[in-house]
Amino acid sequence: MSKDTKGQGDATRLAHTGRGGTRHHGVVNPPVYHVSTVTFPSLKALKDATEGPQSDRAVTYGRRGTPTTFALQDAIAALEGSGSTFLVPSGLSAITLSLLAVLNPGDHLLMVDCAYAPARHFCDTVLRSLAIETTYYDPAVGADIDKLFRPTTRAVFLEAPGSVTFEMQEVSEIAVAARVHRIATLMDNTWATPVYFKPLAHGVDISIQSITKYVGGHADVMMGSVTASEPWLSKLRHWIHHLGLCVGSDDANLALRGLRTLETRLARHQATGIKLAEWLGDRREVSRALHPALVNHPGHSTWKRDFTGASGLFGVLLKPCSDEALAAFIDGLELFGIGYSWGGFESLIAPHDPSPIRSAVPWRANGRLIRIHAGLEDSDDLIADLSAGLARLASA
Ligand SMILES: *Cc1c(COP(=O)(O)O)cnc(C)c1O
Repeated sequence: MSKDTKGQGDATRLAHTGRGGTRHHGVVNPPVYHVSTVTFPSLKALKDATEGPQSDRAVTYGRRGTPTTFALQDAIAALEGSGSTFLVPSGLSAITLSLLAVLNPGDHLLMVDCAYAPARHFCDTVLRSLAIETTYYDPAVGADIDKLFRPTTRAVFLEAPGSVTFEMQEVSEIAVAARVHRIATLMDNTWATPVYFKPLAHGVDISIQSITKYVGGHADVMMGSVTASEPWLSKLRHWIHHLGLCVGSDDANLALRGLRTLETRLARHQATGIKLAEWLGDRREVSRALHPALVNHPGHSTWKRDFTGASGLFGVLLKPCSDEALAAFIDGLELFGIGYSWGGFESLIAPHDPSPIRSAVPWRANGRLIRIHAGLEDSDDLIADLSAGLARLASA
């Protein structure tokens, strides 16, 4: 568990931040404020609220934030360790907003090749139409990232581990190299959450999370967060306000509820994920498990040095098999849902094929890649389910 400057650990902060202090009659959780219109007793009060120094935290109109969304912002900022947090409607919008905030027409972006696929699509469509050029780079690059810098390079985007292929990155080396050239660094930290990795403490400028995943934790809310300090904060605020991005208080309340148990749940996701990955890695139907906490993973030493834990999402490279054998394996599983997203209490499984989108480092693995999210179920039950599935695969 990482400690903040006051010596408190993340689990303590998760229990005590974003509670709204002693207001609200002492109730433990901040109330859910449903807000669009806010009325003021006088013109002066209206002006003070909307234009005063505290206007970021004034309740002036629903789109500008509510006491419930402010509580969640505070709790996430405390967990990130520094900076201030903005909330947006999805993890993808957290990525797209951040890229818009740091790039202008004519600029160049370095995007990690293992980035979340819809983030790539944004670069290849919207950013391209804005005359912003993207180069995809090998996740294994470290300080050598500076060889890819052009005079127009304004941002480097990181995601570690890649959430489908699980490559690690030398985050600090990249952040240091970028800072020398005043290039912004942005990191999608959805896999680790700030409980297991704090991007800002490793020199990254903008820390991005899909709250939909582990913070929400119950497969019932969509949201994203962006955390940064100045000068990036002002740029982010500009774009959020002008694009009109906001989140509802009911969703913020669900995210706050999820946040309280984040550290506790992650410990279980971690233990089960490692157990399943090790078990699968030893099976003859499997060529290897892709999990940075396993010693045979190429990024293991980086993960061990920089991260304080692993979440429950990992990959498994099966030996080549037919479509029918794959379907026999996956369709018959009883405890693993077939679906996208992850970070909820339930286990999930889905095949992925990175080969059509990878460009810097072509994906040449021989065999099917499947991605597993280890939920909070009993790990022995999950292993029994997978074991029966692999038996179906082998006999199909
Ligand atoms: C799911 C995901 C996102 C996008 O989050 P949404 O809330 O679904 O928009 C971004 N990055 C990663 C790594 C993800 O897994």
